Amino acid sequence: MDTKPTVSFEDTEVAFQYKSDSAMQKANFIFSLVNHPWISAFATGAVKLAIKLKLPVKTMIRKTVFDHFCGGESIEKTEHVANSLGRFGVKSILDYSVEGEKTEAGFDVVMEETIRTIEKARTSTNIPFSVFKTTGLASTELLEKVQTKSTLNSNEQSAFEKIRNRVDCICKKAYELKVPILIDAEESWIQDTIDGLAYEMMAKYNKEKAVVFNTYQLYRTASLKNLRDSFHVAAMNNYFLGAKLVRGAYMEKERERAEELGYESPIYPDKEATDAAFNQALTFCIDNKQRISVMCGSHNEYSNYFLTVLMEKHSMKTEDDRVWFAQLYGMSDNISFSLAKAGYRVAKYLPYGPVLSVMPYLLRRAEENTSVAGQSSRELTLIQREIKRRKNQNYR
Ligand SMILES: Cc1cc2nc3c(=O)[nH]c(=O)nc-3n(C[C@H](O)[C@H](O)[C@H](O)COP(=O)(O)OP(=O)(O)OC[C@H]3O[C@@H](n4cnc5c(N)ncnc54)[C@H](O)[C@@H]3O)c2cc1C
Repeated sequence: MDTKPTVSFEDTEVAFQYKSDSAMQKANFIFSLVNHPWISAFATGAVKLAIKLKLPVKTMIRKTVFDHFCGGESIEKTEHVANSLGRFGVKSILDYSVEGEKTEAGFDVVMEETIRTIEKARTSTNIPFSVFKTTGLASTELLEKVQTKSTLNSNEQSAFEKIRNRVDCICKKAYELKVPILIDAEESWIQDTIDGLAYEMMAKYNKEKAVVFNTYQLYRTASLKNLRDSFHVAAMNNYFLGAKLVRGAYMEKERERAEELGYESPIYPDKEATDAAFNQALTFCIDNKQRISVMCGSHNEYSNYFLTVLMEKHSMKTEDDRVWFAQLYGMSDNISFSLAKAGYRVAKYLPYGPVLSVMPYLLRRAEENTSVAGQSSRELTLIQREIKRRKNQNYR
């Protein structure tokens, strides 16, 4: 098999092959809107206000941003999206994106829903992983208190035991049904607690292969060392390490908090340092592929390309199941579909949940895609190029 990385991310016909002309027009409308900082700020502000005033905006949201970035309102409703991506070799990771649960009953609901995604994945060839955020299962305050090693009162101790049980129930189910489970990374002031739980689960369920994956945010100066240390612990205790690598989603929040409380920011001072750390982490994982399974969670073209080069250097087959590439649904289709076409293992996070409950997720996507430099985003440029290509093709 030819393992030479011949992948290019420029072919928009490949990138958008699963999208109809009307879906392309919708994507063009959404990205044109969010591309302008002031229109984006106005639109997101108006939507937040409309939701607060209970105005009937649900249908409008569902038909626009929700349809573009989410798979549906329930597991069943995501099926047609997972199938349409699957036809082109792009898999889906069902991501229950309801945030802000605060009660024990609410945490149990999230656990049960996550277990349903594992059961769904078990029966579908288009769904290779499941995922959860620990803050969906636990109070952030308690996770933080555990991290600071403060003494817990008996209520807190039993609440933390419940958190551990929820995480264990999910990972056990993942192990039994042979569906690997990703644990998302969150803010640095709760991440040590999340890491602790993740390693406890890996020691239990990763003896034969990587079932439980922890996430490493390479914008954090500590993450490369954390990755190396966790590899050594895995080697010493004879289990496999599952590592999802991301740059990190909470940069502003992290920096603001560090400044406010007067401690050194845990984030690299510039993007170049983050990029270098990310690529070093990829290299470390591939160098240690006998024990590490890696997922590259990134929309950065160079990092994805770099990983294909590393695989080639190590004579790995494109379809080696120790290496996954992952992007978010509704973004960077040029990366996902080109990699899948070249034979690599690719998956998209496919968020789902009731329309109004996934609004925090959707608002973050709007912010992320807003241009700061006043130029068209990469996403918008590719969408417009494909619309033009289809138009020219129809005239021929
Ligand atoms: C499949 C998938 C899963 C994800 N899971 C998680 C998760 O569990 N936890 C999480 O936190 N995020 C997660 N993310 C989001 C991710 O962390 C990034 O926010 C997002 O993907 C953008 O980074 P990039 O590598 O795609 O692109 P790029 O455009 O190359 O990088 C943008 C990122 O670089 C970093 N950055 C930008 N400027 C600077 C600077 N001046 N100094 C230092 N760093 C800088 C920031 O992290 C920023 O988000 C996930 C993303 C994907 C695609």
